[in-house]
Amino acid sequence: MGKCIFCGKPEDDALFVVRGQEDNILLCNECILMLSSIANQAYLNLENEDEHEEKNIDEDDFGFTREEIEYLLSDHELYPEQEKQSEVSENIDRADFNEEKFLKAKHYEDLLSGLVEESKKKDMEAADTETTDTETKDIRLTPKEINEVLDQHVIGQDKAKKILSVAVYNHAKRLKDTTGRIKKSNILMVGPSGCGKTLLAQTLANVLDVPFAIADATSLTEAGYVGDDVENILVRLLHAADGDVKKAERGIIYIDEIDKIARKGEGRSITRDVSGEGVQHALLKIIEGAKVSVPAAGGRKHPRGQNVMMNTKDILFICGGAFEGLIEKAEEKKSIGFGVASVPKKKTETLVDVTPDKLVRYGMTPELMGRIPVIVSLNDLKEEDLVRILTEPEYSLVKEYQELLAADGVELIFENEALNEIASIALERNTGARGLRSIMEELMLEVMYEAPTETIDRYVVTKEDVRAKLNLILAA
Ligand code: ADP
Repeated sequence: MGKCIFCGKPEDDALFVVRGQEDNILLCNECILMLSSIANQAYLNLENEDEHEEKNIDEDDFGFTREEIEYLLSDHELYPEQEKQSEVSENIDRADFNEEKFLKAKHYEDLLSGLVEESKKKDMEAADTETTDTETKDIRLTPKEINEVLDQHVIGQDKAKKILSVAVYNHAKRLKDTTGRIKKSNILMVGPSGCGKTLLAQTLANVLDVPFAIADATSLTEAGYVGDDVENILVRLLHAADGDVKKAERGIIYIDEIDKIARKGEGRSITRDVSGEGVQHALLKIIEGAKVSVPAAGGRKHPRGQNVMMNTKDILFICGGAFEGLIEKAEEKKSIGFGVASVPKKKTETLVDVTPDKLVRYGMTPELMGRIPVIVSLNDLKEEDLVRILTEPEYSLVKEYQELLAADGVELIFENEALNEIASIALERNTGARGLRSIMEELMLEVMYEAPTETIDRYVVTKEDVRAKLNLILAA
């Protein structure tokens, strides 16, 4: 019968032994455990010296205190055979002790892998803050402050601005949320053409200082059809972010004319509706959050031809549409089959009570509406709104033309009545604020043509002037 060469324990007393090349060279199970825990610890210490120092563990290189080593050495030098009986309890102690060491080694291993994870996380956070410094700053903008910025650029639409300020504030919070509890609040803006939908979306992107891309829903098709693939919207956003994928993944995408991809037929699957329902389903995928491979062509950071993965889960989607006749459509459908006399259509229809069910009846899929929870309705702009649009915003048309003529040494003045006249012509043309620019172009053409060569230093635009110039051109 042999003895453990390390502790001297008789072979028969050990649970098992490991023999060396010669029969009498053996190690008992306890010493194997203890030595392997020492070896483990030694490896861990070698790999993670720095972390160990940081944690300030007052132990030797192997993770054992001086007293522990002394104890191990003295206790295991020789196994006193004659004291066998009284050793039972000591064996248990020793076993406990070894197990404790083993657990300690495990604990260090866990601790160190925790530290490695932690440092990896810190690295990732550092990389994140590099690209999202602005978000950190902007999340401090309250809904009121966001609204104030909107006020500087967008005239009227007060209710819409309030709803959007809160939605964007929450979106900024969501970008910082690590719990995953704050869900994305994509937005649908319903309002007539030229009332400021695109302008609002663009201004919000500026407020958050995130990349912004505009897509026209009418040009979209399902993947594989001739036209713009839905994925191409992401390419545009990536370009707006200068090829920076991380930045693009927090951007805003505005999808205009979403109402034009409403389902056309009554039934859902009688005919396949390529331009409508199919596109809505393709959009749904990226709106609700998907990893999409997009070509990075043209981006500064990626050479042409390379593909990058973009995750759309943090991209805020804002959709806009006129949804003309939305209320009538909803009412017409309600009366079908009941023999009810049709409800007289209201001339001045208000969009204030746009609800998801009305939008579904209009032809939007319930799935898509489910992913766009914030619905904002915008009003038709009135004459006084258009006058304010002409003069008040930082980059208003009046200021722009004054600047243009100032370069030729001409002071440009608009009489109030002239501004009202311009606004009323825009209303007549039914183009909302969008038509103001073309009216101004027509109005100012002659003056801009003459200004560099004529010796005028002041030009006053009057009501008569507006009518005369516009009629003249219209008649021509
Ligand atoms: P929509 O997207 O609703 O069709 P836009 O936002 O594109 O309309 O508006 C077209 C242009 O008209 C804008 O670029 C802006 O100059 C002007 N505009 C429209 N609505 C407003 C508004 N409420 N306040 C200020 N400017 C506006």
